[in-house]
Amino acid sequence: MTRLFYLLKPIIPRRVQLFLRRFLVKKQLKQYKAVWPILAGSEKKPENWIGWPDGKDFAIVLTHDVEWGKGHDRCRDLLELEKKIGFKSSFFFVAERYKVDKELRKFIVSEGFEVGIHGLKHDGKKFKNKKIFSERAIKINQYIKEWNIVGFRSPSMHHNLEWIGELDIEYDLSTFDTDPFEPQPDGVGTIFPFWFEEKDKRSGYVEMPYTLVQDFTLFILMKEESPAIWIDKLDWISKNGGMALVNVHPDYMNFSNLRESEEYPVEYYSNFLKYVKENYEGKYWNALPKDVAAYYKNIVTMNR
Ligand SMILES: [Zn+2]
Repeated sequence: MTRLFYLLKPIIPRRVQLFLRRFLVKKQLKQYKAVWPILAGSEKKPENWIGWPDGKDFAIVLTHDVEWGKGHDRCRDLLELEKKIGFKSSFFFVAERYKVDKELRKFIVSEGFEVGIHGLKHDGKKFKNKKIFSERAIKINQYIKEWNIVGFRSPSMHHNLEWIGELDIEYDLSTFDTDPFEPQPDGVGTIFPFWFEEKDKRSGYVEMPYTLVQDFTLFILMKEESPAIWIDKLDWISKNGGMALVNVHPDYMNFSNLRESEEYPVEYYSNFLKYVKENYEGKYWNALPKDVAAYYKNIVTMNR
């Protein structure tokens, strides 16, 4: 059913798509109880694991895919909100879908936050075949250089880690521990970063799965009205010393009272951050993905 849906998706009107996806998710929720939101075994620590820096219990990594101009124009508000609560995050822009403001990128970095790239066009074509991928990889590498960044997340979480190796990156974020609701639903089954070694063995990069479900799935498809599912999972991740990595989209966050469809009140997210702060102050490492990647790469290199 899921495969059929994604096959027909391009010709189905958005409103009908949403209705169908909600219907699908409702059915899947019962079916996947044993593997979502927590997959048993995913808490197993990586080989040679030495723990998080400064003896912190767990890591929390906040990331944002910016889908459209609408989300782009909300980045400052989102950054200010996170900063006020005491967190920092990373923003991933689609290079050629809307205009990415240079000043905005500079502002994000100057605030101690991070910028990454979320594909070139986000039109679903990139992973269609190797040829298209490689052509786009060249362009993406140009942006990586121009923007002076090291991280990538592919549109719609398409993940062919071998292909992604063509990008000049330190890390990739196109996977998840467990998320059977995704179009490409195979999870990597770990709540820790891992090293992806390319076939030539000359290079590799750090892969970091998201471990808290995406906001769209949680608030738009499942229609949850609080961050309770995130909080439960975070408690479990902290107990197991893992990495809580979330992908929330400014496009779906509502900062005012005029809420459009496919938006949720930003308080669902800020309340989650406040929960983390109030309950785990001093115990977590709120790191940018580039910092986690550098830290983990170092562990891998030390063990060679
Ligand atoms: Zn996206």
